[in-house]
Amino acid sequence: MVANIPPPKDDSIEVFLRILDERKRHLDFYQRIKNDWQKSIEIYIKHKGNPEKIAALDLLLYTKDEDEAEDRKKSLIGLYSPQQGKTPHEILSKMRREHGLICCPSCGEAGIPGTLDHYLPKDEFPELSVLLLNLTPMCFECQQAKGTQYKTNNGSKKYIHPYFDEVTTPLYKITFQPPYNSPKFSIVMNDDIEPDLLKLANEHAIGIDLTLRLKKFCNTKYVHLLKSAKRHRDKGGRVGLGEIIEILLQSEEDKSINCWEAVFYRSALADKDLIDYLENGDLPDNL
Ligand SMILES: [Zn+2]
Repeated sequence: MVANIPPPKDDSIEVFLRILDERKRHLDFYQRIKNDWQKSIEIYIKHKGNPEKIAALDLLLYTKDEDEAEDRKKSLIGLYSPQQGKTPHEILSKMRREHGLICCPSCGEAGIPGTLDHYLPKDEFPELSVLLLNLTPMCFECQQAKGTQYKTNNGSKKYIHPYFDEVTTPLYKITFQPPYNSPKFSIVMNDDIEPDLLKLANEHAIGIDLTLRLKKFCNTKYVHLLKSAKRHRDKGGRVGLGEIIEILLQSEEDKSINCWEAVFYRSALADKDLIDYLENGDLPDNL
């Protein structure tokens, strides 16, 4: 976790106007809501999706009763699943597949994120269901863990927004607790980051179940590291293992500064005793 990624190429307001223009059913409703709908999109953009500053539209103001409001809510949510040829079918398809990411911007796990997450959930904010800036690429595991959450128990913003929140430094590290042939892993937030971002990063990590998922990754990745250390020794490597890990780290940071591999290598390098063990210690026999 977590990366800042470029916003969608298409302009959110322009796409909204095209969607509005294509409405053929419930025209009275869409005429009534359109100005407030556009305003709510502008407020979202102005406040960068921050749920502390954004209120959902009350659809009862644009309908005659609760049944109609519920029905129009479904219509708004349905805009996220347009038929081929309708706006924004093609745009969503590209946003899911042509983002160029090779790790999830929400958690940092390697892989091409194949789903789009509604940063503010469509069930609670149906008018934002097709706002492009509310749709961020996300891996399946993050989406399962996040579900429809978006606020903390005390009403604060819970998740880092990949289009709007600046994340330019490492957010957290792994600690390796000896014995180094089979260490215990802990995930620790970097306390040198700005306090508001630190608080948000903590909430975000909880909301995507990061600790448990990353510890599983560490279990496997650490065995790979031990094997690499053994191969390095077997080949009588003239370059220090630390320098090799440094190169691996830089390559992973090109992917994303907070991708799991980058966090792993950076944390390993910071532990001088671990590097010494990998270069000189008794490695497990069963590698
Ligand atoms: Zn993820």
